[in-house]
Amino acid sequence: MTLLGRPNVGKSTLINKLIGKKITITSPIAQTTRNKLRGILTTDDAQIIFIDTPGVHKPHHLLGEKLVKNAKSAINGVDLILLIFDSNYKPGRGDEYIRDLLITNKAKCIVVLNKWDLLENGDKIARLNQYKKLINDNLISIQEVSALNGHGCNELINKIIGLLPDGKPLYPKDTIVDQPIKVMLSELIREQVLLNTREEIPHSVAVKIEKMEYIKNKGKDITAILATIIVERKSQKGILIGKGGSMLKVIGQSARMNMKNLIEGSIYLELFVKVIPNWRKKESKLIEYGYEEDF
Ligand code: GDP
Ligand code: MG
Repeated sequence: MTLLGRPNVGKSTLINKLIGKKITITSPIAQTTRNKLRGILTTDDAQIIFIDTPGVHKPHHLLGEKLVKNAKSAINGVDLILLIFDSNYKPGRGDEYIRDLLITNKAKCIVVLNKWDLLENGDKIARLNQYKKLINDNLISIQEVSALNGHGCNELINKIIGLLPDGKPLYPKDTIVDQPIKVMLSELIREQVLLNTREEIPHSVAVKIEKMEYIKNKGKDITAILATIIVERKSQKGILIGKGGSMLKVIGQSARMNMKNLIEGSIYLELFVKVIPNWRKKESKLIEYGYEEDF
């Protein structure tokens, strides 16, 4: 099952909420999810595999093209699509573009109106009707939710389970994500870079986990992680390091806190910053930093 929607509608937040763990990065800045990521929810009688996608948008450069390609390929061959909207806004032209993409794809679909918590009570019925008008018959049902506070999430899970085909579970019961741990760790670091630097550091940042080692010290489990943050310009490197290394310290500490959700024991995290001009235009660099196409 794939989650599809424009950047920033709350796809990653919703997956985290439904699965109940932080497995994907979220951010107030659009387009933070770069690769497809699978999150897995196993209940007593069903297994739901969520595929998080980068938002669908018009491509501007090589990286952008890859994002859109991956999003489109994510709707091929899935049992069900969750089409997520930000219900805070009326449906617009970009929404029609995504709807049309689905109609040609003939996929089963649940429309999810997210951020329902932001709507005034008096506006709710009108907004629901606007979205009902946008969608058509091949879209099976509509559910309003708040990925932030969990409103409607149980109802959504039940609707999903009702529409899933019968089959054997694909993953063991306790698996919640199928990304390699290194990818998840680098995403957690990238998330803190985006959150802490906002406008100054655009999406030209990548993170590479250079080394990950398990050490036992006095009977304690320690995971030592060495990571490089790659930026395109020297000025960006300066911002990232901050005065006396203060910015890098904040990024490292916050990322490490989130890593504790994924790794048992203590974590040592060491960060370096490297400048590689125009890495986003270089195929070899895109592959090195994990942005391959997967189809
Ligand atoms: P994505 O680009 O679709 O993956 O969007 P994200 O999951 O990264 O979320 C974008 C922003 O919307 C973040 O700041 C989230 O905290 C916020 N957000 C997501 N879901 C909700 C919601 O249900 N209510 C509110 N108020 N904010 C939300
Ligand atoms: Mg996302």
